[in-house]
Amino acid sequence: MLSISVKEFLIWKKLQLSKGGDQESFAFLLDCIGGISNFDLNLLSINPKGNLYLKKKLDFLESVWDDHLVKCYPIQYLCETTYWRDLKLKVTNKVLIPRPETELIVDIVFNIFGKQSRKLFFAELGTGSGAISIALALAYPLCNGIATDIDQDALEIAINNYMNSSKQSNLKFYCGHWWTPLESFKGKLDLAISNPPYIPKDTYEKLPKEVKNFEPRIALLGGEDGLQHIREIIQKAPIFLKEKGWLILENHFDQGEKVKQLFIKNKFTSIEIVNDLSGIGRFTIGRYK
Ligand code: GLN
Repeated sequence: MLSISVKEFLIWKKLQLSKGGDQESFAFLLDCIGGISNFDLNLLSINPKGNLYLKKKLDFLESVWDDHLVKCYPIQYLCETTYWRDLKLKVTNKVLIPRPETELIVDIVFNIFGKQSRKLFFAELGTGSGAISIALALAYPLCNGIATDIDQDALEIAINNYMNSSKQSNLKFYCGHWWTPLESFKGKLDLAISNPPYIPKDTYEKLPKEVKNFEPRIALLGGEDGLQHIREIIQKAPIFLKEKGWLILENHFDQGEKVKQLFIKNKFTSIEIVNDLSGIGRFTIGRYK
């Protein structure tokens, strides 16, 4: 631990924030890397004459902050951490930073199956950091889930996140392309869930730097029209779902109606487009017959 005066720290902090960026990201950096929580920061204003203990030197924290400001490096990757629902997750540039709007997908599951623990067998296709699967595995300790990803490095992150979040072993991890790792679970799933890559090619090219230059292309790009992977997932879902099993997908802001048509074409029922908190038709759900 390094000790510096609160006065020196506050002058430095003001200088850093004057360069740009938002207060929230800076506080995140101080907390994750510097070891100064929001609570500590609030105390400083009460006791401005004291000393402060830091995990890293100010120069180091400044170089990280500069990487964020100058290169648009996402603060979550620099801190290797993100918060999602009530989870604290490790994220590296091998996985997408789970988005706040995706948090709602867990509530959709609660609405369908209830919040009480029950026997449920689910699979998440393309788990990335593991966020959705881990939230479900924790919410339903009696159920079993499988989280898949095509990228073994991503899967390692997800496994690490699961081990840090849960003492149970009700979630298993398999590597492979969409349904491929689930060959031995044909007709067995109560629920399949996915936030697949759905950004259309043209849109992908125009994404902000902090997304395009750092987040995995494979987790974002959904082919020419954005629906390439969604199409594949929907088409094969009937093979893996139980009768009346549910499929829940996240999609791009304007894809709801098209995804709904794909559900209809593949003989799903109870199809619904579910809005996110901004009123965008972000999720499409349906059950197989
Ligand atoms: N919602 C993410 C974004 O806008 C995209 C996630 C995805 O393609 N599944 O960056």
